[in-house]
Amino acid sequence: MKVLIIGSGGREHALAWKVAQSPRVTRVYVAPGNAGTQLEPRTTNVDLAAEDVPGLLAFARREQVDLTIVGPEGPLVLGVCDAFAAAGQRCFGPSRLAARLEGSKAFAKDFLQRHGIPTAAYATFTRRSFDPAWIRAQRAPLVVKADGLAAGKGVVICATQDEAVTTAEGMFAGRFGEAGETVVVEAFLEGEEASFIALVDGTDVLPLATSQDHKRLRDGDEGPNTGGMGAYSPAPVVTPEIHERIMREVMRPTVAALAREGTPYVGFLYAGVMITADGTPNVLEFNCRFGDPETQPILSRMRSDLTGLCEAALDGRLAGVDVDWDPRAAVGVVLAAAGYPDAVRKGDLIHGLEAAATLPGKVFHAGTALDANGRIVTNGGRVLCAVGLGSSVRLAQQQAYRLVGAIRWEGQQYRKDIGHRAIEREAATGA
Ligand code: AMP
Repeated sequence: MKVLIIGSGGREHALAWKVAQSPRVTRVYVAPGNAGTQLEPRTTNVDLAAEDVPGLLAFARREQVDLTIVGPEGPLVLGVCDAFAAAGQRCFGPSRLAARLEGSKAFAKDFLQRHGIPTAAYATFTRRSFDPAWIRAQRAPLVVKADGLAAGKGVVICATQDEAVTTAEGMFAGRFGEAGETVVVEAFLEGEEASFIALVDGTDVLPLATSQDHKRLRDGDEGPNTGGMGAYSPAPVVTPEIHERIMREVMRPTVAALAREGTPYVGFLYAGVMITADGTPNVLEFNCRFGDPETQPILSRMRSDLTGLCEAALDGRLAGVDVDWDPRAAVGVVLAAAGYPDAVRKGDLIHGLEAAATLPGKVFHAGTALDANGRIVTNGGRVLCAVGLGSSVRLAQQQAYRLVGAIRWEGQQYRKDIGHRAIEREAATGA
């Protein structure tokens, strides 16, 4: 079986690494991939951009690829799965219309409200309909969100009404390009966040292991928002009761409503939820793909064959399917380049990867490339994700940081407290 993974980040390295372990798989292609995917056994990078839908389709047909798995949201929102399906190619991910759940925050909020799925109170504005008086009548803090895809940067938490007005005006003025032509302003929710990721086959929802990521750049959850500085699985915040509430109040109604509206959802579905004090799982956002960096710890724990799960979902056969998990916890620590999350420096030589490869755990690559001499250099904001496993989150964290300690480059940044919330819980319960 030949599998094509679309994308080039840490998530895609983890997908490729996992798929390559399947005894059914003879070859994994990654378009465009990174230095880490290039070095995996049975895996080849393909020089095609993730958003080059015609190029990807032509490649899949020419190489007789049996299954394509889409990593990032960009190609999904462009309709890569529709194009593949129309050509008879199996491509795992939602259609363009179903991917609007991520592609348009205004669409997602209206959808949630229409179906009574818990989410923060909000209003949507365009430049022409903008009503600063509405904002000034709300309680601060407020959250201002650019409607479209903004690489995880289009969300601004505003301490005052004035700041929210100025932020919205900045978005209308083009701060996030077209993504900011429509703006959602919503109430700020207090609580603890969790990522809930499932496989969906149009009707049934198969939840994957729970996880939690760390969005802020610095220890103690301070500093600017990033794409994610680390993640761990499982997330103790998702107790069995919360798990059941997320399934009952968010995941199943979302999938059922999408099917009723004529846009059935097939693919990974990710709900970012804020669990408020009364245990209500409020949807902050939907992603129409696996999370990054959540994929790295989650797939490190998955024992089942991912290709079989994707095929079952494509065939509408997820009912009754179980996923086999390693009971150990996994912690993934992101190592980022100098300057991240703003302008990043590229081309720094990464030292210590060979030493790290002899240690337990796994280093997934994200923004890496091979230079002209075949050496691995930084090539993006988030460069690596070091994943450790252990019988507790604390032990998994120790393994991950031993990997981190082996690796260095000029200007590297990483948090030293990934998993801290779970570890505090473990300490409190004596786990
Ligand atoms: P989003 O991309 O919508 O998930 O937003 C990015 C981050 O902003 C989330 O992970 C939260 O930390 C924060 N956030 C978004 N919406 C809210 C909200 N209504 N209340 C509190 N924090 C929020």
